Amino acid sequence: MRLLVVEDDKDLNRQIVTALEGAGYAVDTAFDGEEGHFLGDTEPYDAVVLDIGLPRKDGLTVLEEWRANGRKMPVLLLTARDRWSDKVQGFDAGADDYVAKPFHMEEVLARLRALVRRAAGHATSDISCGPIRLDTRAGRVMVDGNPVKLTSHEYRLLAYMMHHVGRVISRTELVEHLYDQDFDRDSNTIEVFVGRLRKKLGTEQLQTVRGLGYLLAPPEGETPARPAR
Ligand code: CA
Repeated sequence: MRLLVVEDDKDLNRQIVTALEGAGYAVDTAFDGEEGHFLGDTEPYDAVVLDIGLPRKDGLTVLEEWRANGRKMPVLLLTARDRWSDKVQGFDAGADDYVAKPFHMEEVLARLRALVRRAAGHATSDISCGPIRLDTRAGRVMVDGNPVKLTSHEYRLLAYMMHHVGRVISRTELVEHLYDQDFDRDSNTIEVFVGRLRKKLGTEQLQTVRGLGYLLAPPEGETPARPAR
C-alpha cells in the first residue's frame, strides 16, 4: 500500500511518515498544497493524509479539485481542534475521515487501516484467503494458523494482493502501489518477491497469469470482497 502525506509542518510530516513506514506502507510526502495536489492527481495512492492549513493551496481546495477530477482515493483530513466548521466543510469537500490536532499516531494508523480496507471492500482488520490470514492491525501473516515471517517488501506485496483477492494485478500496478516515488523501481524485482513470497506461504493461492500479472486466487466457494466504491 502506498500513501501520500501532505503536511507543511516539517516535524509533524516526518513523524507521520516515520510511523507509516514503520507500519509497512510506502510513503510519498509533500509540504505544500500545490505539490500535494499534483502528486495526488498523478499518482495512484491507496490513501492520503491531508492537512487543511497548507501554504500555496489550502487542503480543502486541494481535496475539492481532486474529487472534481474524479480522484477517489480515501482521504484523512488533519484539522485544528475545535474547528467544527472545518470538519463539516471537509466532509462536504469529499473527505472520508478526520483527526483533530494534536492527535495520537496510533489513531491516525487505525483510521488509515480502516479507510484502506473499506476502499477494498473489507469490513474487518483480519483479511483471509483460504489458509492465508492477514492481520492488518498487527502486521502479521498466518498460514493454516502458523505465523509466517516476511520482509517488509514481501509483507507489502502480500497485503496489497490480500486487499485485492480474485483480481489479476499487473506488475506495473504492483510497482506503483509498493514503492514510493524515490525508490529505484525495477518491475523485474516484483517477480523475485512473488517467487519468495510463494515459497514462504507454501500455498497454491498466489498465481502467475502469463503476460498479465499475478492473482491471489480465492479457494473455490469463497467469494472475494468487492470494493465499496
Ligand atoms: Ca498546516
